[in-house]
Amino acid sequence: MPYLEISSQNFFHNHRIILNAITPKAPEKLAIVLKDNAYGHGLKEIAQLAHRVKIQNAFVKNVSEALAIAEFFKSITILYPHSKDSNFKEALLAPNLYFCAPSLESLVQLPPNTKIELKVNSGMNRNGIDKNALSEAFTLITKNNLQLKGIFTHNGFGDDLDSAFYTQNIEFLEIKKDSLALCNHHNLPRPRFHSLSSSGAFRTDCASIPSDLQDDLYRIGIAFYGYLCCDFQSPPLKPIASLYAEKISTLSLKSGASIGYSGVSTLEKDSIVSTYDIGYGDGLFRIREGMELYSAEGFRILPRASMDCISIATDAQKVCIFNNANTFARAFHTIPYEILVHLHSYIPRIVV
Ligand SMILES: *Cc1c(COP(=O)(O)O)cnc(C)c1O
Repeated sequence: MPYLEISSQNFFHNHRIILNAITPKAPEKLAIVLKDNAYGHGLKEIAQLAHRVKIQNAFVKNVSEALAIAEFFKSITILYPHSKDSNFKEALLAPNLYFCAPSLESLVQLPPNTKIELKVNSGMNRNGIDKNALSEAFTLITKNNLQLKGIFTHNGFGDDLDSAFYTQNIEFLEIKKDSLALCNHHNLPRPRFHSLSSSGAFRTDCASIPSDLQDDLYRIGIAFYGYLCCDFQSPPLKPIASLYAEKISTLSLKSGASIGYSGVSTLEKDSIVSTYDIGYGDGLFRIREGMELYSAEGFRILPRASMDCISIATDAQKVCIFNNANTFARAFHTIPYEILVHLHSYIPRIVV
């Protein structure tokens, strides 16, 4: 059976680096993003590790994810809640679950008393209300008796060393000022503000603006898992996941033998080749002709991958398919996020 080994030591190492670089004096500002099964790493497993280092706030994709880890955090924000979810009502009643409100419509549809975090567009032009609609949003929030817990945006330019990142930060500063004035006007308590994900938080000197206008949270995802995909020099983070597969069978093959579908791999010398129990049906990307990939031990993975197994030039009982998702990300011209998040949730996650 394939499995994903999660290194708690590497997680704690990453946590120390992130904390020291981003918010050493206010550790409570560090939030963890656990959406999509904690980027494929195992929702509960990572939530428990985060709990051990006293992280109090988390972000998830949906209601089911939030309910599964509700006991571990002071607050959990559901980024993509759906009123059709079977456990939506249960989530509304939970004292520590917040619902993302990404549009004016959502402010009308959510039932009274719902704890919301209002999403505002600051230049990524994806989710969120227009900045000019803030006043209307506050009117709806008051009228519909919603509990405004937070106001946030997503800076989508953290990875790129150009001015768009700073333009969005300035835009959010304006949003914060407008929001505080509106809170005053409607007699609402100050909501929490947040805007930055891993790469943005690493490059921002957050103390350079007046304290009442500083962000209250940093939404850190990929850095906890040991990666940063950015133009600037990355801090020494360590990938926390290693993917292992176990041997199904072994053959001793002669030079010239071809392997797998359409025989696209041909042996240049007599070799031992085994199959291992992970394939593209388990979410590992499909290795095909022209790709040169090696296991962490240095054994060649022979194209093509099958749905439930792959061939590797070794007879080892188990093989580490990767201990750093960048090897696969490079081969497939993508980012580690995509490699990791595809790993099926039925693959056991083992924390060591
Ligand atoms: C995924 C996500 C993050 C985390 O981004 P990383 O690059 O993984 O740190 C932060 N905020 C929102 C709204 C997200 O959807």
